[in-house]
Amino acid sequence: MFRTNYHTHTFRCHHAVGSDEEYVLEAIANGYKVLGFSDHACWEYNSNFRSGIRMDVSEFDEYKKSVLALKEKYKDKITILLGMEAEYYPMYQEWLLEFCVEQEIDYLILGNHYYLSDEYGIYFGHMPPRYLNAYFDTCIEGLRTGMYAYLAHPELIMRNEYMEWYDVVEEGFQKICLECARLHIPLEYNVLGMQANRKSGVEQYPHHKFWEMAASFGCQAIVGMDAHDPKDLNASLYEEAVAYLESLGIEIVKTIEPVNYEYLQDLQWIDE
Ligand SMILES: [Zn+2]
Ligand SMILES: [Zn+2]
Repeated sequence: MFRTNYHTHTFRCHHAVGSDEEYVLEAIANGYKVLGFSDHACWEYNSNFRSGIRMDVSEFDEYKKSVLALKEKYKDKITILLGMEAEYYPMYQEWLLEFCVEQEIDYLILGNHYYLSDEYGIYFGHMPPRYLNAYFDTCIEGLRTGMYAYLAHPELIMRNEYMEWYDVVEEGFQKICLECARLHIPLEYNVLGMQANRKSGVEQYPHHKFWEMAASFGCQAIVGMDAHDPKDLNASLYEEAVAYLESLGIEIVKTIEPVNYEYLQDLQWIDE
């Protein structure tokens, strides 16, 4: 039974602990064949805004160097990939694509946390209800760019305290499921969220109604540990997630294809 995880943070996002090597050793010890590092992406903002939850552009080189050194050091034991968990910020998307090409990023996952840019401070996990449709629309627009290997914690909005399974929520999630099924983009079953649900006794994400819907739409699921601590790579948590998804009969994807950012850039050039 091989395991893979493409959702791994590092201390550089200021809310994860442990050294990069500790994540690798923990992954090997827990039977992972692939460990993708996907720390929160840096952005070249148009303002002097600095985010407290991600690395700066100037810190990226060191992140890359560290990941590539571990990739080489442990190449006989595990496949290590250089990725990022990135937002969909329309105004910065061209910069991001160029950055992925230049830095030879293996893949991005879409973590749609903020609306338009974190400069504006609208966090989809704690937002006024009027931004609900903006969440669904930006998820779909983002996925259509082809830049993201999968959608991380699709049900992020369930973190809002007032949120329940309203009709408008169900309709929005239906749109996401339809689009992901159409584009063959996996939806992430987020194991950090599974741990949080358990600790708090409140079901935020993952949400069972979402996963029942995703299964009925013929979507693909991928397990994402969203590790912010090497301990988050725990194999029994991974297997619990797999067992739950299997009980729904949803297809589970274990490996993702690297994204060809150069190709995407060429396509843009043709469009112009
Ligand atoms: Zn995230
Ligand atoms: Zn994450």
